[in-house]
Amino acid sequence: MSTKVLYMEERRGQEPDPNYRREFEATVLERGPDFVVLDQTAFYAEGGGQPWDTGVLRWAGGEAKVIKVTKEKGVIRHFLDRMPDADEVQGVVDWDRRYAHMRYHTSQHLLSGIVWSIYGARTVGNQLYADRARVDFQPVSFTPEDLKRIEDECNRAVAEALPVRITEEDRVKIENEIGDRSLVDLIPKHITRLRVVRVGDRDYCPCGGTHLKNTSEIGGIRITERRSKGKDTDRIVYDLLAPQ
Ligand SMILES: [Zn+2]
Repeated sequence: MSTKVLYMEERRGQEPDPNYRREFEATVLERGPDFVVLDQTAFYAEGGGQPWDTGVLRWAGGEAKVIKVTKEKGVIRHFLDRMPDADEVQGVVDWDRRYAHMRYHTSQHLLSGIVWSIYGARTVGNQLYADRARVDFQPVSFTPEDLKRIEDECNRAVAEALPVRITEEDRVKIENEIGDRSLVDLIPKHITRLRVVRVGDRDYCPCGGTHLKNTSEIGGIRITERRSKGKDTDRIVYDLLAPQ
């Protein structure tokens, strides 16, 4: 039995964006010594450079902290500080942490798309936190003027308040459209439909992460560091300014 991932559900009509869902009801399917597997969840399991969500699980007469969420071989485990006495639970995601991850994740896609279109450099690694992010690019060596230009282009896209669209698309179509700019090759061959995130017209990339609905929510991007990570590879570290 597998867990239905609520933020991956396709958005229908006027329904709220599933990426913004922070509470849900669920049934415990499986118990370990310090974890549960649920029939559905809104908690993000670590992956793609985005850290796991924390929060709480509540049940009649009790509450546990969700300390860590992992996904291994398709199984999503919620690690808890105490085990529930009941099978019917309510999950509440720590929203400040998750929303910070969404702002960093969408801004990372924007930055990656802009660097690709100006310099033709691919994103070869990234890690997001709640207060900063880093992205590795290759092949490239940025000058201070380049960094200023990248920052300005990102902030222009924030000011334009571009919509972020998430759809499911055919793998072959994506491979044809983005070629080797992204690491589609790393996704197992049997997966023929992919979730794709579009940040306005600035980026188009398959991703399983949680994202903002509009670039205005990023606030602003400030590059704080550039470091060479060996031949042809540069790392950019940045943080975000609060939206106006
Ligand atoms: Zn992503």
